[in-house]
Amino acid sequence: MLKIFDRLYQGLLYLGRPFLRWREPVIVESYSELVNILIAQNKKKVLIVLDEGLTQLHLHNVLIDTLKNKHFNYHIFSDVTANPTINQVEAGLFAYIAFGCDAIIGFGGGSPMDVAKAIAARVARPNKNLVQLGGTLKVLKKTPLLIAIPTTSGTGSEATVAAIVVDERTRRKYAINDPVLIPSYALLVPELTFKLPPFITATTGMDALTHAVEAYINNGGTKFTNAKAINAVKLVFEYLKKAYDNPNDLTARRNMQIAAYDAGVAFTRNYVGYVHALSHPLSAFYGLAHGYVNALILPFMLDKYGRKIYRKLADLARKSGVIKKGLKNAETAKLFISEIRALNDHFGIPTTIPQIKEEDIPQLAAFANKEARPLYPTPRIYETNELEDFYRQLKGEN
Ligand SMILES: [Zn+2]
Repeated sequence: MLKIFDRLYQGLLYLGRPFLRWREPVIVESYSELVNILIAQNKKKVLIVLDEGLTQLHLHNVLIDTLKNKHFNYHIFSDVTANPTINQVEAGLFAYIAFGCDAIIGFGGGSPMDVAKAIAARVARPNKNLVQLGGTLKVLKKTPLLIAIPTTSGTGSEATVAAIVVDERTRRKYAINDPVLIPSYALLVPELTFKLPPFITATTGMDALTHAVEAYINNGGTKFTNAKAINAVKLVFEYLKKAYDNPNDLTARRNMQIAAYDAGVAFTRNYVGYVHALSHPLSAFYGLAHGYVNALILPFMLDKYGRKIYRKLADLARKSGVIKKGLKNAETAKLFISEIRALNDHFGIPTTIPQIKEEDIPQLAAFANKEARPLYPTPRIYETNELEDFYRQLKGEN
């Protein structure tokens, strides 16, 4: 595909962006406020989408108690794993219909929130399957009331248009992007993240950083998206280590929730880039956690973009206060990248992905290319053979 076509496509999306029905979720800070909203909107029964791990941690107990106290009906659907699949969404849709629900809560990390959104997309479009709904603006119809309760601070799914699922038939991880999938409400309770293990705190936090950096260096950033990205980067550098070193640090946890949310608001409007495009197939093929792979690829990819992003990256580094020295753009950008590597080191995140199998590389690169082009307005556009090279380097051979 011609690069000029990609840029034209991205230009059209950019011009059309103000006309989309953007909304930011209303932030809610208590369970009872949330249940009151359900009651006020005359809802009768809510489907709560959880993942298996969370069900065991009983993090949702307070939500359930509040629903019970207010005599509000619910049904729990907890058949959700990391890198959730189309089959899981279909099972959730079945539960939604069978139990007569009229609202959906996604409770947990990215996976349950994405499954909640994908179920909502299927409710809105009962005659289209999830593969047909993949891509941009394919839902376009009103979904049931959608509420997000994030328990990690990273994916930002509570603020985004995207539901990301794996097609188990082709092993492709793909996105359904539509502003109707932005949750109407997000409940942000920092205490929910206290029990998050340190390594997951670190990798999901690095995912938030990746969202902010990719949105910022892409073409088409606006004052609004740039300000959100700068704030997210600032907060990640200030608080992620603190949340990692001291899980019960309320200030750090609260600020990481804001970082994840702001990064979500930025990238859902200005997209992510090759870090995500390269990382999604790796999660789908090898079951690797999204934030972990992104953290690892982020500094690698920033090096690859090279001088093309020095000015923007330096700008981001200075405005977020990460680099305070009065250096030239190139030095500032390089120093910023080494600060990201230092964070990864601190968290014990490696620099290579030995799980990558040589024989998978052509397919991985084809999927990465399909995700990035023509949608993402990345600073550089790469051909599939270049992406294959990147995978080989990430594998740790060259
Ligand atoms: Zn991400």
